Amino acid sequence: MMSTARRPAATDPAADAPAEDTWLPEPPVLHSPWHTPERAVLQERARRFAMDEVLPVANELDPQKGEIPQRLLERLGELGYFGITIPAGDGGLGLGVFEYCMVSEELARAWMSVASILARSQGMGTSVADAERRRELLRRSAAGSWIGAVALSEPDAGSDLANVQTRAVRDGDDWVVTGHKRWCGNAKAADFIQVLVRVADPRPGESRSRGLRNLLLTKERGSFPAGLSGYPIDKVGYHGFLTWDLTFDGVRIPADDLIVEAGDDARGDGDSGAGFREAQKFLNTARVHTAARAVGLARAAVEDSVLYLQEREQFGHPIGDFQALRFALADMAAQVEQARSFYRQVAHLLDEGVPCEREAAMVKLQATEMAVRVTNQAMQLHGGNGYTTERQVERHWRDARLTTIFEGTSEIQKRIISNAMLPRSPLS
Ligand SMILES: Cc1cc2nc3c(=O)[nH]c(=O)nc-3n(C[C@H](O)[C@H](O)[C@H](O)COP(=O)(O)OP(=O)(O)OC[C@H]3O[C@@H](n4cnc5c(N)ncnc54)[C@H](O)[C@@H]3O)c2cc1C
Repeated sequence: MMSTARRPAATDPAADAPAEDTWLPEPPVLHSPWHTPERAVLQERARRFAMDEVLPVANELDPQKGEIPQRLLERLGELGYFGITIPAGDGGLGLGVFEYCMVSEELARAWMSVASILARSQGMGTSVADAERRRELLRRSAAGSWIGAVALSEPDAGSDLANVQTRAVRDGDDWVVTGHKRWCGNAKAADFIQVLVRVADPRPGESRSRGLRNLLLTKERGSFPAGLSGYPIDKVGYHGFLTWDLTFDGVRIPADDLIVEAGDDARGDGDSGAGFREAQKFLNTARVHTAARAVGLARAAVEDSVLYLQEREQFGHPIGDFQALRFALADMAAQVEQARSFYRQVAHLLDEGVPCEREAAMVKLQATEMAVRVTNQAMQLHGGNGYTTERQVERHWRDARLTTIFEGTSEIQKRIISNAMLPRSPLS
């Protein structure tokens, strides 16, 4: 619940300490039916880490477009956050999508990039055919020594991923990859890049996505392997890691470094649907995780606004005395609360094993559009000061603006939802 309470502690290390009688926002708590003592401890620890250790780094580095420093990555590893959803037997915390999203909201409240880097572990890039290697990679993923990047998008394949043109051709025991990828976050700093490639053309009448596979390009952190080059794209926000435009010119990948997916039986567990179910769960989880990050950003904007409305005076009053601004704040808080309730519900359903593709698309759509509205309104409440890098609200707004674009745009989420409600359109 978002409420306000009189507390004499500064939650914002970069801002001037609030006056003794300043009302500070009470952060969200877990009520029934979501509350467990373990979750409450996890939430409190994540919140303290975010506000004490992440926020000051974000305030210092984001204006310089500085990446998440190594020390912060190590702390995320120490806290177990790279393996929240990885089974305890494989070195993870053995928790669910609910806890993953709950921790991510806390981190995004401080710096969205830090919440995002968690999505590049959690077992990503471990779904190889060899069971022993898979377990070793899972352990590394949980420890934060197997952090990846995902290269799906291309200059001419964004929403329409079936149009991927990057080719992989078998040559002896290797795949040889040639093509152009765009928007690959964390590519250079990663331990691996999961690359979506075309290995065959669909036959007439077959789906255009037929013949697409994910390869696992293993690499050294901080460099590109032979045949791979690129440049970082200059973005509006999301500065915690670099986003790359990549050229693959005959990059060699061992044949076994193929990600097991839709319809494969390469896991050798006799379940040919396992790959497909995992891929679908991955996508649904990614959408709910994005919703949680959006809630974290919007909440940051609300919390900053609560302070600013008391700090700033005009016409002889704190601007928080004006009803128009009080009501704007109330609208913002209600929207954040609604989106949080929705993402918790969908995360819970995913943990229960309910296939909820439509609900995951709905919560991604609603929460990210909400974050754009709320951070925009927060900037308005901050007046001219909101439009400066002296205040954090501009970072929340810049980062929120991305959330309706990446991980599938709002229009693509609407397409998923409406396809579940109507006969498929010939244009879909
Ligand atoms: C900062 C950033 C980081 C990213 N990180 C990664 C990453 O790590 N890895 C990766 O692979 N990709 C990444 N992406 C790419 C991202 O997923 C794409 O930008 C996104 O999927 C949209 O594709 P596009 O930019 O080509 O837009 P387009 O697909 O060209 O869309 C343009 C507009 O048309 C709309 N549109 C398209 N098709 C339809 C349709 N059928 N119906 C209605 N509207 C439609 C879109 O919603 C959008 O409004 C990142 C992007 C950004 C900006």
